[in-house]
Amino acid sequence: MSDITFKGWAGHNVADPTTHLTLSEITPKSFDPTDVDVAVRYCGICYTDIGSYEGELGGIAEGRVCGHEIIGEVRRIGPEVTTLKVGDVVGIGAQTDSCGECEWCAAGEENLCATKALTFGGQYIKGPSKGQMVNGGFANYWRGPEKFAVRLPDALDPASSGPLLCGGVTVFAPLKKYGAGPGKRVGVIGLGGLGHMGVLIARAMGAEVTALSRGQAKKDDALKLGASSYVGTGSDLAADLKDHANTLDIIICTINPAALPIAEYLSLLRPRGTFVMVGVVPTPLQVPTFPLIFNSLAVAGSLIGSPSQIAELFELIAAHPEAAPWVNKYRFEDINTAMADFNAGKAKYRLVVVNEENGGKL
Ligand SMILES: [Zn+2]
Ligand SMILES: [Zn+2]
Repeated sequence: MSDITFKGWAGHNVADPTTHLTLSEITPKSFDPTDVDVAVRYCGICYTDIGSYEGELGGIAEGRVCGHEIIGEVRRIGPEVTTLKVGDVVGIGAQTDSCGECEWCAAGEENLCATKALTFGGQYIKGPSKGQMVNGGFANYWRGPEKFAVRLPDALDPASSGPLLCGGVTVFAPLKKYGAGPGKRVGVIGLGGLGHMGVLIARAMGAEVTALSRGQAKKDDALKLGASSYVGTGSDLAADLKDHANTLDIIICTINPAALPIAEYLSLLRPRGTFVMVGVVPTPLQVPTFPLIFNSLAVAGSLIGSPSQIAELFELIAAHPEAAPWVNKYRFEDINTAMADFNAGKAKYRLVVVNEENGGKL
């Protein structure tokens, strides 16, 4: 038995942003033999949390606790836990369960499983916990399967590592898949939470990085993040991109405009280049076939990453501490302010809430 009282910042669909979230006692999932209890020290705020709390992603149960860039310490392990021990520092990302039986789960690509449970709004899908609500990391404790709690290497700074678990692996997985590394040129469109990690991670992988963002405001930061060139875009995208045509091998597109002028961006790709969407664009893309065929280009998408990819990213950042995400820290108690600042675009570049009671450091 456990004497822990689980408390989380539960969402409410109310207009006043200062009361969007209230701290309340929550009922954790049942403690299964393969589960761990993790005392949450840090949790990043991701765009998807906002969407899930506010119902944009298909409705939210009143009382939902989001947060899916979780860093904490293992305090209790089930009798069948084999990979973690009490005292380990772990990270939990956007996914907390999968079927465990399909070809994707068997191959360690759980993020492609058709029945995955997402940390910001899912239900557990197998075993004794089937149907129970997933509670995320805006809480004092997180409980879930060891499979989705990835041990943090000792060399990693826990305070800035939370954002690697969703945003970081979201950009790392396609960079790896499409061959980012020495001798490759990567473009990152958008310099928000995701994009800034795209630049940091692509650079850490050894690629040469071009950052693309609106205007010139983020140019200095882009260069500090590791980009070797910056393209500030304005009202005439074709003109802005003209000098950079045929220069990139991989483009990671992190922006969420109503419509994306993909034809202009495809002009940046060299033969066999890949354009990867990780930001959602509501209007269907109008992809011109001529450059696609003539230059053997590919347009792709990518969703988060598997636990093994998260572990691989942790090792990469442990070896390249300069590529740790840039974070602004907020007290756990100030989460409504953090959410409001996130919505106001004040993040530079990722916000993290810190639970000092559990050993997090501001
Ligand atoms: Zn996320
Ligand atoms: Zn599966």
